[in-house]
Amino acid sequence: MNIALIAHDEMKNTMVGFCIGYEEILKKYKVYATGTTGKIIMDATDINITRLASGPLGGDQQIGSLVVSQDIDLVIFLRDPLTSQAHEPDIQALIRLCDVYHVPVATNLASAEIFIKALDRGELSWREVRKTKSQRV
Ligand code: PGA
Repeated sequence: MNIALIAHDEMKNTMVGFCIGYEEILKKYKVYATGTTGKIIMDATDINITRLASGPLGGDQQIGSLVVSQDIDLVIFLRDPLTSQAHEPDIQALIRLCDVYHVPVATNLASAEIFIKALDRGELSWREVRKTKSQRV
């Protein structure tokens, strides 16, 4: 099971707090993140992160590509709901792909906490079955 983490600038402190709080769970999985988000998480925790490009430079699209190839099972995307983003089309595209491929996506801290606890309890294991089936097609 692989997790993608993205946080807009105003949400980065919240993301770091989330990762410190759930570090022991996150360390059990392969974690991808957009560039700056990944850096600040790695500075604050021992979570091993595969860093992609910064979001505005295509990182959201790279995560979208991983969603398409069934390499992401959970997206935690702490969006800033109060600031317009230059790469809004990329953000919308990523969330649309999560809907297309039935990938759980949390866009705020409250849902992120529910999802990470669900993941730890094995409640997202249906993703493994889904991936196996799609590989057979
Ligand atoms: P960043 O990208 O982690 O490189 O800041 C996130 C975003 O703004 O989409």
